[in-house]
Amino acid sequence: MMGALLVLNAGSSSLKFAVYPIAEDTLTPFVRGKFAGIGTAPAFSARRRDGETLTWDQVPPLAKNTGHDALIPALLDWLKAQLGDLPIVAAGHRVVHGGRFHDGPARVTDALLAELDALVPLAPLHQPHNLAAIRCVATAAPDLPQVACFDTSFHRSQSPLAQMFALPRHLTEEGILRYGFHGLSYDYIAGILPRHLGERADGRVIVAHLGNGASMCAMKNRRSVATSMGFTALDGLVMGQRCGTLDPGVVLYLMQEKGMSAAEISTLLYERSGLLGVSGISNDMATLEACNTPRAEEAIALFCYRAAGELAQLAASIDGLDTIVFTAGIGENSASIRARICDRLLWMGVKLDAAANAKNALRISALWSEIEVLVIPTDEEAIIAHSSRVLTTDRCDENTAFPDKAKP
Ligand code: AMP
Repeated sequence: MMGALLVLNAGSSSLKFAVYPIAEDTLTPFVRGKFAGIGTAPAFSARRRDGETLTWDQVPPLAKNTGHDALIPALLDWLKAQLGDLPIVAAGHRVVHGGRFHDGPARVTDALLAELDALVPLAPLHQPHNLAAIRCVATAAPDLPQVACFDTSFHRSQSPLAQMFALPRHLTEEGILRYGFHGLSYDYIAGILPRHLGERADGRVIVAHLGNGASMCAMKNRRSVATSMGFTALDGLVMGQRCGTLDPGVVLYLMQEKGMSAAEISTLLYERSGLLGVSGISNDMATLEACNTPRAEEAIALFCYRAAGELAQLAASIDGLDTIVFTAGIGENSASIRARICDRLLWMGVKLDAAANAKNALRISALWSEIEVLVIPTDEEAIIAHSSRVLTTDRCDENTAFPDKAKP
């Protein structure tokens, strides 16, 4: 079958895209790119697979107020020009929340969209944008098959115990559960791990996805056993703007004693907390590392303290630990954050090779470390392409070879 597969990952102010050949066994995109600053100052960047940088040469140019609804049809036109005779034959989307029953990707239908709309309150920062992108593509190309790939699916392998809160049983039965997120990233890492670890990939592994959003996943046999995020993507680690684990009594206090509304608390916890809230400076780790002020330092210290604690707790869910994998923006690029987290895990037998760590090498643990530590760039678009290809064509799983994502 000839054709190309479009992958979209729509965030609140960004839209990542990649286009993959259907016919090839390796998942290396023809073109990969991103719109950043949507709604304020949209900026476009894209590269072809040969490394050539591409520019946005559409008319009219990107205006300040261009939103996703105008960008997506314009992007489809731009891609047509790039692809020449090769048609786009399917689209795959990142969708943050798939609820409790989707343990894999699903073809988009009206019924599925209605089901996913109902989950918006559980992922208010991401889900509306993910679903809007699906609807924009459906309007621009009504006959194009579309696939939704969920960040929650990978965690449906967890035991009922790992997914349960200690709440009255009827609330658990209603779906107040630990869903877990970043599943597409974990799925990609689980897929590529045997290449680096051989049979040890099926051992006790914790993947630390440390980006603006951050979480960890404990795996055995490359399946999720436990994860740090829960009912929403607020739980667990300290994040760019999100608070991570919080005593629920704080929320009651904010409502009862400070008279804050649900909307105000939501903004506080999703947008004003985390690294931004503690530093008062930025949600961006690279910015904080460069700024050398006591509050920035305290925010970084809290991030690392909590990450090490979460990792140790997750290790209990898989009866110990063989391998740690760092991934995502901070995990892939910040040697100092990796070192600060690992220094706190010396008692577990984690010892880094400082030179390898400084180079962001694949293997950064010292030879005599009891626990192996790797840095592996994640590639959520590749796993979406893989799943979408399986669901929309007659190609089967086994042929796909995941590429190592090139480091930028
Ligand atoms: P992501 O959400 O995966 O794109 O990751 C974004 C986060 O990675 C931001 O906090 C960035 O500041 C951080 N980041 C990217 N590169 C570096 C770096 N070289 N040092 C420290 N943090 C970085």
